[in-house]
Amino acid sequence: MDNTMNSLLDIFEGNSDKKCWASFQQCIAKAPEQVLRYCRNASAKPLWPMASGQPSKADIPNCSYCGGPSDFEFQILPQLLYYFGVKNDADSLDWATIVLYTCKSSCEASMAYKEEFPWVQLYPTSAT
Ligand SMILES: [Zn+2]
Repeated sequence: MDNTMNSLLDIFEGNSDKKCWASFQQCIAKAPEQVLRYCRNASAKPLWPMASGQPSKADIPNCSYCGGPSDFEFQILPQLLYYFGVKNDADSLDWATIVLYTCKSSCEASMAYKEEFPWVQLYPTSAT
């Protein structure tokens, strides 16, 4: 992650949907073809398209295996919908972003299957 990205993420804290969306688009515009953002380090935060619909700390469950805290690992961007060929209908599959949280200490890394916690941020229905 470069410095521009970091400062954008700083601007994100506690902002309105409008500012949030603008910053999100600005970041994504740097690599419009990307469908996934992977950030596995202590300071990584998901890039939220909107201020509303974000999980609070209490919404993100601890690791089901070791009971330790979960951390942001990667997020799926709405651009993926385009690659799925999803049409822009009212009842089409849609999301603003999907954020995946996994065990901070990667305690289950040796296991074939890891339970991960996805948080789906949806666009408000009025915006579609
Ligand atoms: Zn764990």
